[in-house]
Amino acid sequence: MKQFNQIILIISIVVISIVLSGCSLSEDQGSDQIFTSENLHKTEILNLELATPNPSKTSPVIKDLTKTPVNNKTEDQKPSPVDKNETSINVDQYSLTISSPLQGISIEELNEITSNPFVFLGAGKDEGHHGTDFSFYQYKSFDQIEQLPVLAVFSGEVTSVGENRPPYGNMLIIETPLENFSDDFQSEFVKIENFNNLPNYTNLNCPNYSSQTTKIELDSLSIYTLYAHLYEVPEFELSQHVVVGNPIGEVGNSGLSGNPHLHLEFRIGPSNFEFDEMAHYENNATLKEMENYCLWRVSGFFYQVDPMKIFENYLQNR
Ligand SMILES: [Zn+2]
Repeated sequence: MKQFNQIILIISIVVISIVLSGCSLSEDQGSDQIFTSENLHKTEILNLELATPNPSKTSPVIKDLTKTPVNNKTEDQKPSPVDKNETSINVDQYSLTISSPLQGISIEELNEITSNPFVFLGAGKDEGHHGTDFSFYQYKSFDQIEQLPVLAVFSGEVTSVGENRPPYGNMLIIETPLENFSDDFQSEFVKIENFNNLPNYTNLNCPNYSSQTTKIELDSLSIYTLYAHLYEVPEFELSQHVVVGNPIGEVGNSGLSGNPHLHLEFRIGPSNFEFDEMAHYENNATLKEMENYCLWRVSGFFYQVDPMKIFENYLQNR
């Protein structure tokens, strides 16, 4: 009986040991599994957080960027980070849309080759110097400016091709809608606010161009760039698209010009106006040529802009 009891005790100890070890084993396995699955779960959440931005944090920014018009800023509004983004986007876009008018000469260097500056003597006056002249005899590695390629300062559409007519000679006018420019650019250069108060200047001999002014649309403005005294007649047609930085001709001495130079002229005026032919100061100038010249120079619809101010604006804002 004592032996039987001992056997029962030994069996009980063995069974209890097996049961205890089995429990501890399953607990370890269980805790391992739970720990691993928690880890996986945490990793998945972390990955999701990294991969997917929290919509509640980002959606207001996206909404502001796309829906806040740039024009609606007032002086009282302090710029928010979103405003800064919009400004930098505009500046970047603008910096991509301007070129020096002369190949091999940077915008910064244009000051050094300015031979005749812009002189403004009043809106609607033919006097003064309505553009800036660039010329040199020797500059950097260039021996002469004649036949140096002239480049489009802005992209746009051709609105006048001059075939060696006085005073501009061989020339090209390219129109660029002002909506392509930043608000800062527009607020600095747009001066025409009321077309009903245009100056009435009569010193220049002009035909009655009132029939032409009926074609003028006043609902949007463009900047018009004129390149004068080119070497040859520009090989462009009206309405042809020109890309910024592309060659539009070569520096020449055509028209009323004493030496080879580029006369660069900017005006802001009503969009979609085709000047086509333009001439003055010569007996054989046709009525249509003189009408267009007077509209361009003295009507007041097309306001003179200092070319160097445009390049300075770019250098300050790039
Ligand atoms: Zn000039």
